[in-house]
Amino acid sequence: MIGIEEGYTISLRSNDNGISHYCCSHCSYSTPYKGNLKSHLVTHSTVRPYVCEVCNKTFNQKGTLKRHFRLHSGERPYKCGVCQRTFAQSYALTYHKKAHSHMT
Ligand SMILES: [Zn+2]
Ligand SMILES: [Zn+2]
Ligand SMILES: [Zn+2]
Repeated sequence: MIGIEEGYTISLRSNDNGISHYCCSHCSYSTPYKGNLKSHLVTHSTVRPYVCEVCNKTFNQKGTLKRHFRLHSGERPYKCGVCQRTFAQSYALTYHKKAHSHMT
């Protein structure tokens, strides 16, 4: 347990349909599921429990560490459907695809 609830207030508000929402006190995020708010609060937390074992960079979310780790592992799961080139990061593929759209 990393104590993500410390310093955060979880307020319960009802919308027009009478459905209660857990509201983040740091931004406009709200969700009917307490578990979702808990994982959302990690994005505001300075706790970064996920450490890259290669370069010791720290991350506050497991998914972020996973994406980062691909830089080291050489895994390239994003593939361009036009020229079959592969990319490690989704934004790199998005950027690459723009190059195709400029070609005529
Ligand atoms: Zn928030
Ligand atoms: Zn790393
Ligand atoms: Zn391509």
